[in-house]
Amino acid sequence: MNKFIISATAFALATSSFMASAQNNFNYNVDRFADIEVLRYQVPGFESLSLQQKKLVYYLTEAALQGRDILFDQNGKYNLAIRTTLEEIYTRYKGDKNSKDFKGLEKYLKQVWFANGIHHHYSMDKFVPEFSKEFFAQQVKKVGKKHLPLAKKQSVNDFIAEISPVIFDPTVMAKRVNQADGVDLILTSACNLYEGVTQKEVEDYYAGLKDPNDPTPISYGLNSRLIKENGVIAEQVYKIDGLYSPAIENICQWLNKALSVAENDDMKAYIQKLIDFYVTGDLKTFDEYSILWAKETKCDIDFINGFIESYGDPLGMTGAWESIVNFKNKQSSVRTQIISENAQWFEDNSPIEDVFKKKKVKGVSAKVITAAILAGDSYPATPIGINLPNANWIRAAHGSKSVTLENITDAYDKAAQGNGFNEEFVYSDVERNLMKQYGSLADNLHTDLHECLGHGSGKLLSGVDPDALKEHGSTLEETRADLFALYYLADPKLVELGILPNAEAYKAEYYKYVMNGLMTQLTRIEPGKDIEEAHMRNRHIITQWAYEMGKTDKVIEFVKRDGKTYLRINDYEKLRVLFGHLLAEVQRIKSTGDYAAGKKMVERYGVKFDRSLHMEVMARYARLNIAPYKGFVNPVYTAVTDNAGNITDVKIDYTEGYVDQMLRYSKDYSPLTK
Ligand code: ZN
Repeated sequence: MNKFIISATAFALATSSFMASAQNNFNYNVDRFADIEVLRYQVPGFESLSLQQKKLVYYLTEAALQGRDILFDQNGKYNLAIRTTLEEIYTRYKGDKNSKDFKGLEKYLKQVWFANGIHHHYSMDKFVPEFSKEFFAQQVKKVGKKHLPLAKKQSVNDFIAEISPVIFDPTVMAKRVNQADGVDLILTSACNLYEGVTQKEVEDYYAGLKDPNDPTPISYGLNSRLIKENGVIAEQVYKIDGLYSPAIENICQWLNKALSVAENDDMKAYIQKLIDFYVTGDLKTFDEYSILWAKETKCDIDFINGFIESYGDPLGMTGAWESIVNFKNKQSSVRTQIISENAQWFEDNSPIEDVFKKKKVKGVSAKVITAAILAGDSYPATPIGINLPNANWIRAAHGSKSVTLENITDAYDKAAQGNGFNEEFVYSDVERNLMKQYGSLADNLHTDLHECLGHGSGKLLSGVDPDALKEHGSTLEETRADLFALYYLADPKLVELGILPNAEAYKAEYYKYVMNGLMTQLTRIEPGKDIEEAHMRNRHIITQWAYEMGKTDKVIEFVKRDGKTYLRINDYEKLRVLFGHLLAEVQRIKSTGDYAAGKKMVERYGVKFDRSLHMEVMARYARLNIAPYKGFVNPVYTAVTDNAGNITDVKIDYTEGYVDQMLRYSKDYSPLTK
């Protein structure tokens, strides 16, 4: 529920003079293909960690890389076979590497690596290959039986016949996660979380397990694939000796090593619980782990590793495997510490109805972190903020941990400098200067507020099913957290607390948010399509609603100049009031589980947009030649050992390229394809 991903254009906007002066010769730009740009991030402070901490990071990064295959398989049941086959063709190919077919295959493979499967990581649409079926068949035969991922007794020809439609036929497995209204979302989604079951059967199955009066429900379906065999519906649980066992065994092996160098007993306890969870697959154990993890706030090093976010499931239940290893950025964490210390004040003064407020906000711990590795669902495309655990009752009773990944936002900012985006889309120098001065800070602060307070604020009325908003739950939860952040960004309290320098700074984020929500995020939508992704819908709901509600007062205005459309905010204070009103309504929907109102809000404000504006923005954006999606390669960590095999140091290296990294991961971290 709770990852905060960078907006379509945020990376292009936040530039500050501070950052420009801190520029070094680090090469942020790694690769460019299709609609993707691959960047590199720095891990400042890694060298200053103690040897024990470096070892801990090293073991955890190894545990992180071992799960890559799991996500590929969750995203689609042919993904691993396709990836392996394409890699075999790619690395063995002896023909003309400038031929249209080979170039097409290379591009497709790069897309598959980036998306952890054959569907776009964001739009969820299947990639369109730019190489021929005949070329593919011919090359598969050249690779030969020995190196292909054939099923038992399968011939090469049968393999080609099975795989080809999955790659080439646009009607086969067209969409990874379908959110379209009025169809069976399970049957029309290509993800590999269900097999042979209808949406109704899935809903009935879990409804049968749920006890509506259980105050501490487990996260049903989080770690399993639901199948029907011989007419019986059953869960295949992700665990040791269950589904994905070879990968999970490797993860546990590295977690065990991490256990030996844990920073303190609390950390030891939660790592041990996580291992127990991987061994048993028991979701009660996962909740116990989540509580121990949420409560541990003393250590510098931290990590997530597991089945976490459920955006990849059309019904929002099963968690996609991911891992991020990180350590605390102490300097920037002062900011989030102030926010979390004042959490109760923010809750008490929120514009929502009193009955929906938390009487006592539980331990919101927030910090700014430096990511050391990104893996699974967080790689190569990654969130810039995370708030976990996801279970509502754990958040309410035990609090949550919220992080902002500042070395990642920093890399986005630096890689985007001078790309011409602001000059093209921002209305005037007034807004541009605001953004230049305060954009970076206000943007990070938005993430802090969204993660640290937004998701954690408010409560469900007793008896309300946390999944009551169903397919609109993710969108509305993001809407709520964003509105909370936007509302408070403009609060004098932030200046009073010394987090924002003055009463103007928030306008940088307001402008950016509105421009993005109503205009520039549309660059991610293909002509003729609707808005589908939860975060994009959320931003459109907020900005479209505020635009319409403030129309008579011209709070937000579309202005034409030289045939181009721009946005102008005429009344920032009124805009804040509107954000407050919408927050109250979205909180009411969430707290009371008002599915009908939630659905109406999403469909009315979040899905449709002005088609002619879309075409205009696309044309202007195309001329800038900026890739709409970005992701990262990881640094390479190498353990230095003495003669006895003891680790004496861990070295970090930033020179590995995108293709090299992907091929190395497939070779060294592929327990499910070997
Ligand atoms: Zn969020």
